[in-house]
Amino acid sequence: MDVDRVLLAAPRGFCAGVEMAIKALGWMVRVFEPPVYCYHEIVHNGLVVDRFRKLGVVFVDDVSEVPPGAPLMLSAHGSAPEVVEAARAGGGFVVDAVCPLVTKVHHEVKVRAGKGFSILYVGHEGHDEAVGTMAVAPESIHLVESEDAVAALPDPGGPVALLAQTTLSHQDWAGVLDAARQRFPDLWMPGKSDLCFATTNRQSALTEIAGKADAIVVIGSANSSNTVALEKEARNAGCPRVYRVNRADELPDDLSGVVGVTAGASAPEELVREVIARLNPAHGVEEVAVTTEDEYFPPPRELRELLAALDAVASITLGAPPPARSAFAEDRQRAASDVLDALAR
Ligand code: SF4
Repeated sequence: MDVDRVLLAAPRGFCAGVEMAIKALGWMVRVFEPPVYCYHEIVHNGLVVDRFRKLGVVFVDDVSEVPPGAPLMLSAHGSAPEVVEAARAGGGFVVDAVCPLVTKVHHEVKVRAGKGFSILYVGHEGHDEAVGTMAVAPESIHLVESEDAVAALPDPGGPVALLAQTTLSHQDWAGVLDAARQRFPDLWMPGKSDLCFATTNRQSALTEIAGKADAIVVIGSANSSNTVALEKEARNAGCPRVYRVNRADELPDDLSGVVGVTAGASAPEELVREVIARLNPAHGVEEVAVTTEDEYFPPPRELRELLAALDAVASITLGAPPPARSAFAEDRQRAASDVLDALAR
């Protein structure tokens, strides 16, 4: 390897929704005896999932696999309404760690379907987020993955709305949007697309470095939609060599010149450090920032209520005064990667 310089995209890695979900599952493994169950991967990253597995979390793809009464977390990608219902009927403590920006899309689906719209949903077939969102109004929603899919739709015979998975590549979204507007001139869509701030910011930062790099390395899992979108954006930007890797040992040995590095929204910063150490650039690392993110999503309501109730019980049974500060007082300052590190010790 003969790497001269690394251009490091910012923002990269964990987004506010992933931060919230990881910290929430971190609380679950501290509060409950194992096993704690999690419906779907908490976020799409092998390292994060493996770390929680070692702490006694069991990941399931069907809530019927969860024993009655066992604690259960629902993943950040959002779950179908019938899954949430079945989870709550199981009798155990349930925390829904859905990202609020996915909840917003679920709400848009519900409202538009209620008003009689046919909904075109731009998303990836089989992805957890798309499956959960489409289940909100299956009779009104059509999945479209490409411009051709828009052309192939039967005539909806009524008003049409366009909604999207939060983690799409901007180019994919723009292509479908154009095709949908041409075919349905009265198309309704939200004032701002459903692509979330984290998706947009990571793609903008990558575009900034892609034209200046001899190769781009995108860190993240193959089942992470926003990671795959970053890979696509780098290719669209004309970068000659683009690699998506889970870890540093997957890097090719012949990288040279200027290498751009970014990470999907579910990839921890320790993987970025690992990759940079392996690239070992002769002239160091330059961070290229397009914006700073200060979005913060507080812990899920169920968890806040549980911890408050535990504090109240402790003060009654132990006679201790109620704590002056909530357990979540430092939550905003606490990084999910630090929580993961602390739990691994
Ligand atoms: S990528 Fe966007 S929608 Fe998904 S968890 Fe992060 S902030 Fe939420």
